[in-house]
Amino acid sequence: MVKVVCVLYKGGPAAQEEPRLLGTTENKLGMEKYMKDNGHTFIVTDDKEGPNSMLHKEIVDADVVITTPFHPGYINAELIDKAPKLKLAITAGVGSDHVDLNKANERKITVAEVTGSNVVSVAEHVIMSILLLVRNYNVGHAQVYRNKEWYVADIAKNAFDLEGLTVGTIGAGRIGFRVLQRLKPFNCKELLYFDYQNLPSDAEKEVGARRVQDLDDFLSQCDVVTINAPLHEGTKGLMNKEKLSKMRKGSWLVNTARGAICVADDVADAVNSGHLRGYAGDVWDKQPAREDHPWRTMQGPGGPSGSSYGNGMVPHYSGTTISAQKRYAEGALEILDNWIKGKIQTPANIIVENGEYASKAYGQGRGK
Ligand code: NAD
Repeated sequence: MVKVVCVLYKGGPAAQEEPRLLGTTENKLGMEKYMKDNGHTFIVTDDKEGPNSMLHKEIVDADVVITTPFHPGYINAELIDKAPKLKLAITAGVGSDHVDLNKANERKITVAEVTGSNVVSVAEHVIMSILLLVRNYNVGHAQVYRNKEWYVADIAKNAFDLEGLTVGTIGAGRIGFRVLQRLKPFNCKELLYFDYQNLPSDAEKEVGARRVQDLDDFLSQCDVVTINAPLHEGTKGLMNKEKLSKMRKGSWLVNTARGAICVADDVADAVNSGHLRGYAGDVWDKQPAREDHPWRTMQGPGGPSGSSYGNGMVPHYSGTTISAQKRYAEGALEILDNWIKGKIQTPANIIVENGEYASKAYGQGRGK
């Protein structure tokens, strides 16, 4: 019998309306029966910040912690020190940067995620975000919906076709590659990628993408950049003022990877000044994002006031569609059950184990 603490987002009436919303505190990743039948202690909460939160109180004698990246329980070194029995941290989703992985290694805590569970969900969101920025959707929508207006010129002056533009992805792994696949039929001028490694040659051929090895060179060639790399010491704050200045004037940046890969104020300055024509994404440096976060209000200078021109920000939800929830919920349960039964985990799901980084992507920038 084990004690599992699980941090999920609150569902409220939505969780009752839609029982497939498994990532909510009400629907408990669909794990309640398993926990009951097996006599495990199962604490589910959305209360995760500060020493008086349920997470901080309950983790002290927990064996396992589960969290989604959408409402992440931040398992930092201090919290790990308070949890002497903790042996397994499961991410119900993809991206385990909310856990201090160095500390997890020091304590030999296994960190595992449900690799691949929502990669299509995110890739589709990336395509949507690119299109809404490049085609200036927000200004058009604000006119008809909010202002009851009709000024085609105000929209069209900043609306473009994706065809003929150069689009590049930072990170060409599971999501980045799926983004390239989905971009192929748009007949872009060129598809580029920046990654530590080459795509396999058949994959590169399939999407017709070219690898650029120098980041500045890559940024200067793209009209649209999409970020699809994990957050680790090598990518934290990567897109700062200096790198943003290497992007073409009037280009667009989409980040559905992790908020902290970009420096928030530098991005807001680049959008507000018009250096970037727009920024979109669903990930924020700390979640939920604070009310006065600059990404909530940034807007390009070329749009009518209050039209959210060039601002494609939404809460973190691209990987938590109804379609994705079943996959990451079932995957998280499988990881837990394997661990309890001492079975071998699916290798791709392991981020760190026995004090070592299993994933090359996370190991990069960490000297591994
Ligand atoms: P993946 O491991 O399949 O691919 C990541 C790729 O990034 C790899 O090819 C790796 O070599 C590359 N990479 C690592 N560091 C890099 C760097 N400094 N520069 C360039 N490339 C680098 O992972 P994935 O499944 O494609 O997911 C990528 C990230 O997307 C996740 O780590 C997670 O943070 C994020 N994500 C977000 C959501 C969401 O809901 N918004 C959902 C899933 C994943």
